[in-house]
Amino acid sequence: MELLDGKKTSLDIQNELSEKVKSLVANGTNPPHLVAVLVGDDGASRTYVNAKVKACERIGFKSTLHHLSSDTSEIELLKVIKSLNEDHSVDGFIVQLPLPNHIEDHKITLAISPNKDVDGFHPENVGKMALGLPTFLPATPNGVMELLKRYEIPTEGKNTVVIGRSSIVGTPMSILMSRKSNPGNSTVTLAHSRTKNLEQICKQADILIVAIGIPEFVTSDMVKPNAVVIDVGIHRIEDTSKKNGFRLIGDVNFSEVSKKCSYITPVPGGVGPMTIASLLMNTYIACNERN
Ligand code: NAD
Repeated sequence: MELLDGKKTSLDIQNELSEKVKSLVANGTNPPHLVAVLVGDDGASRTYVNAKVKACERIGFKSTLHHLSSDTSEIELLKVIKSLNEDHSVDGFIVQLPLPNHIEDHKITLAISPNKDVDGFHPENVGKMALGLPTFLPATPNGVMELLKRYEIPTEGKNTVVIGRSSIVGTPMSILMSRKSNPGNSTVTLAHSRTKNLEQICKQADILIVAIGIPEFVTSDMVKPNAVVIDVGIHRIEDTSKKNGFRLIGDVNFSEVSKKCSYITPVPGGVGPMTIASLLMNTYIACNERN
């Protein structure tokens, strides 16, 4: 078994971007500018946003964090989005999900200008992705694609099973893996909460991509020998032996499955860092397109 090291790969990508930023700046162009909007005080969301902001700083991007209180109204948030859409100093921005219950995610996603939507969630960008047109690809699935590409994992003609059909992970993941591209060209099955015989379906997978949101759901009896296993899940589990009181685990039972598969992403250090790398790649593209 070989680890698909998302942490290392993400740092490689960040170093490449850092070199590109240096030459942009040397040519008198402003560095890419990413804005992150965080509403409320959800601990995990704060951690994700801080990691994105820190990564920007590390590679010479400009980054700005708008931290709004949890009682921010939908109208107030829409005003912030309008001003970011119109601000020429901003190349791209993200609104960290999930939002508080009184704000409808899809209204916010629709309000973001598609050419600043570096998370790739706007329906216009999702439509372009489905048609194979150039666009901002959603950060997590694109991070997985980049990892498969850099590890030269063959995907053409393989059976890929994606568990989970969320609009930000599972569904775009299934589209990207089935597109006529490399990586891609897979025969894809998208499994979800109404799927029957999930175990049998998973056992057919040469590549198993898990985004179900249930800790350690996938066990070794669900995995074909030598399969490639991508674990998108992230869960905080209480652990008093850790300084911060928790540890991270995925949707896959790593200790069992890693003994049976050929490649696997660890949690942490797998898909998570690739999501950040992918967001930075999108922001760099947004900056290039505006200059
Ligand atoms: P979600 O809860 O929106 O979607 C889960 C999906 O799993 C649903 O489509 C549902 O149909 C399916 N499902 C639920 N129970 C099932 C069952 N018994 N059998 C088959 N399918 C079932 O989750 P999400 O936003 O797609 O996230 C999935 C996981 O990935 C979570 O753990 C989340 O924290 C993590 N995540 C990680 C990153 C990252 O950067 N690594 C990014 C986004 C999400």
